[in-house]
Amino acid sequence: MRVLHALLEHNHEFVTSREYEKFRTDKFPDKNLAVLACMDARLVELLPKAMGLKNGDAKLIKNAGALVTHPWGSVMRSLLIAVYQLRAEEICVVAHHDCGMNAIDPKQVLDNAVERGVSPDTLTTLRAAGINLDGWLKGFDNVEDSVRHTVDTVRHHPLMPRDIPVHGLVISPATGALTVIVDGYADTPDIL
Ligand SMILES: [Zn+2]
Repeated sequence: MRVLHALLEHNHEFVTSREYEKFRTDKFPDKNLAVLACMDARLVELLPKAMGLKNGDAKLIKNAGALVTHPWGSVMRSLLIAVYQLRAEEICVVAHHDCGMNAIDPKQVLDNAVERGVSPDTLTTLRAAGINLDGWLKGFDNVEDSVRHTVDTVRHHPLMPRDIPVHGLVISPATGALTVIVDGYADTPDIL
């Protein structure tokens, strides 16, 4: 069975058996928390379980590497909306060991794109238009440094209120163990 069809079949069963009832909550996070995490498949269930988060507890934003690649991109916007509209009062950036964005090779990604049918002329045209494809696809060399940098970008964003603690953590995709890289409380003494 194709993936979508299997998914829809499961969904029909899920809804008709009223499985959704135990997930009912509202849009405001009960723990007043927003989490930016990596999209890694190993973290789908492990991350919330390891952090003690259940449905309704947190706003969860995911992308490749738990990165804020641009101060005016959609991740930063999501975090600001979480803070100003959805009652998030703390932010956790959660990257992980063995991340696919660690030392990713942009050239290899683009080679794969060409192999999958994207014309090399398209890459040339994009570069000529000023799009820095290699920079855009670049990941990070060191996960701890990456977390520090992301926390710094979020914390010092001109629209982020100063009293929001922004924590930086690294999770083990094997055990779920969290390591604190940045303790956001240390930078926000006003809230203590
Ligand atoms: Zn990752």
